[in-house]
Amino acid sequence: MAAAHVEALLASYPDFPQPNILFRDLNPVFADAVAFRAIIDDLADQHRGQFDAVAGIEARGFLLAAAVGYAANAAVLAVRKGGKLPGTVLIEEYDLEYGSARLELEVGQLSAGTRVLILDDVLATGGTIAATSRLIERAGYTLTGVGVVLELTDLHGRERLGTAPVHAIMSI
Ligand code: IMP
Repeated sequence: MAAAHVEALLASYPDFPQPNILFRDLNPVFADAVAFRAIIDDLADQHRGQFDAVAGIEARGFLLAAAVGYAANAAVLAVRKGGKLPGTVLIEEYDLEYGSARLELEVGQLSAGTRVLILDDVLATGGTIAATSRLIERAGYTLTGVGVVLELTDLHGRERLGTAPVHAIMSI
């Protein structure tokens, strides 16, 4: 049911944000109350009982993590882009489909071994989620799953991820 909502509402923009990139816009899915509830329920259900915390990746992953964390009574971690977090942070640099980036996580927020589900909107080349996985493991947590709304299978991002189960609501 969630996949049908995503398929119906997904918008595509050729050559955005630069030439030869086909940008998939999930904002219409987030903007539809019924579709949003469906994707949150699906992400929570697919990994139910297997996580104590969700890690959302800036920025659209935050929207998913807040809602899934609430629905599943789980803690919420914010994985932020570079330079935005105070105190002691872990840093991972990685390549994007277009450009490069840095992600950071504050240390010491949860106890060692906490089971974490990573959430983001799109799995493309996998660099973003692979970097987040490294942050989660370096922080001492246990990665038990990955959930995304959309997987772009041509880019083989899933192959860059480890053994934790990856659930995509829709794949194209
Ligand atoms: P990856 O690191 O190549 O897997 O790219 C995933 C990250 O880039 C996610 O955080 C997405 O938000 C963003 N991203 C990559 N491609 C798209 C797209 O087509 N639409 C929306 N976001 C995208």
